[in-house]
Amino acid sequence: MAAESENGSCNAWAARDPSGILSPYKFNRRAMQNSDIATKVIYCRVCYADVGWTRNMLNDSKYPLVPGHEIAGVVTQVGADVKGFKVGDHAGVGTYVNSCRDCENCNSSLENHCPKGVYTFNGIDTHGTVTMEGYSTHIVVHETMTYYDRKKST
Ligand SMILES: [Zn+2]
Ligand SMILES: [Zn+2]
Repeated sequence: MAAESENGSCNAWAARDPSGILSPYKFNRRAMQNSDIATKVIYCRVCYADVGWTRNMLNDSKYPLVPGHEIAGVVTQVGADVKGFKVGDHAGVGTYVNSCRDCENCNSSLENHCPKGVYTFNGIDTHGTVTMEGYSTHIVVHETMTYYDRKKST
């Protein structure tokens, strides 16, 4: 598929075991869907969650594990149904990358309280894959879970 090759190889930093050491890791992002936004990661802040899950402190880490859920970047591609973003916009992604979009919380723009919310890393996405995010060159996330920085975008 064209979309898949456009999102090509993603370069990341991954933990392979609980040692706390990250090393280079290459993988393919999922193909863009119509409501997805591809964002080039410019910054990803270090959070204690990154330390906790790379070191398997909660005993549920899925390796290889690409941490990072405080992400800021620039939009490089938007799906056909995306309304709120255009290429070049500044965008951010936080702790969640998906939700059911059909419950009371989702319908009130409180997706972070959705009982089916998918964590940005070490989560199981609706496509069945383990989420890997911020310590990487680019991410593909649904529009509702991508935030727009209006102050910086023109
Ligand atoms: Zn955090
Ligand atoms: Zn929901």
